[in-house]
Amino acid sequence: MADLNEKIRDHKMVNFIKCILAGFVTKDALIPFVTDVMEAVKESLTRQTGNVTCGVCSTPNVIDCPAKGICDRNKRKCSFHAKQKFQKCGKGVCQTVRDAISQLHRYENPSWCNTDATQWLTEWWEVAKCFLPPQGYDDKDSADKTDINGILNLIINCREFDNEICDDLSKRENVCTIVRDKMRNIRHAAKPDVPDVIMHDAINALTNLLKDVRRHGNFPECLKAISKLNEIKQGDFDIKSESIDVQQDVWKELVSLNFEDKVKYLYHHFSKQIQIMSTEIATLKDASETKHARLIEGTNFT
Ligand SMILES: [Zn+2]
Ligand SMILES: [Zn+2]
Repeated sequence: MADLNEKIRDHKMVNFIKCILAGFVTKDALIPFVTDVMEAVKESLTRQTGNVTCGVCSTPNVIDCPAKGICDRNKRKCSFHAKQKFQKCGKGVCQTVRDAISQLHRYENPSWCNTDATQWLTEWWEVAKCFLPPQGYDDKDSADKTDINGILNLIINCREFDNEICDDLSKRENVCTIVRDKMRNIRHAAKPDVPDVIMHDAINALTNLLKDVRRHGNFPECLKAISKLNEIKQGDFDIKSESIDVQQDVWKELVSLNFEDKVKYLYHHFSKQIQIMSTEIATLKDASETKHARLIEGTNFT
C-alpha cells in the first residue's frame, strides 16, 4: 500500500514538473509575438513625437508628483522624486510619450517604477515594463528574463493586444487570466502534487492561449509550442529527453519554489548531468562553509 501511495505521489509530482515546463514553453513561444507587437508600439510612439527623441529625461523627470501608486502622498518628501524632480522635457517629447503609454494601459495605471523613460523610444522592453505588475519586475532587463506571469500581464494590460488576441481581453475572465490563475494556483500550492485532471486543464489553457493569438500561424514558435504542449501532456513524456538548458530552467524553478526536499526525491526524473550539476553546487556550498569554519578556527588559534 505504501508503495502504491508513493507511486501516486510521484506521478503527481511529475505532473507538477510538466506544468512548470509547459509554462516555460509557452512563455518562450510568446516572446517573438510580444516583441513584434511592442516594436510596433515603440514605432507608433516615435511617430507621435514626430520622430524626435530625447533620451535625457529620467522617469521621475517625466512623471508629475504626486503620481498614483508610486509617490508617497502621506510623507512630506516623495521618495520617488527625492533625487530628480518633475520637469518639462526640453525636447517636448517625453510627456507626450508618457501620456500615450497611459492611454494604452487598460486601467491607465502604468507601472512607472519598473521603467527607464530615457529608453522609451529606443527599447521596446522599457515600454513593455510599464504594463507589468509594479512589484518584482524592475530588475528584469529583457523579456527572456521575465516569467510567464509578466508576459501575461503585458498582454492583458496593453490595449494594443486587443487586436492581436481573439478573446475579449477587457473581460474579467479571458484566455490570459485563465492561464494566469491556473499557473498561479499550481505554483503556490502547498505541495508539488498535481492530479492528472489539473495538469491537463493547465496545459489546455496554455494551448488555448497560443491558438488565440490571431496571427499565430505567422509565428513558427507558437505552432511548435502548441505541438510541444501536446507532447508534454502525454503519459510517456520524459523530461530527460529535454535539453540540459531546459532541464536546468525547470530545476531552478523547482528549487526557487522551495520544494527542495521533494526535488531531491525527484532526482531520478532529471538527466545525470543535472544531478551532477546540482550535487556540485551543493558540494561547493559545503566546501565554502567548511573553508569558512577552518578560517574561523585559524583565527582562534592565532
Ligand atoms: Zn512623487
Ligand atoms: Zn525628455
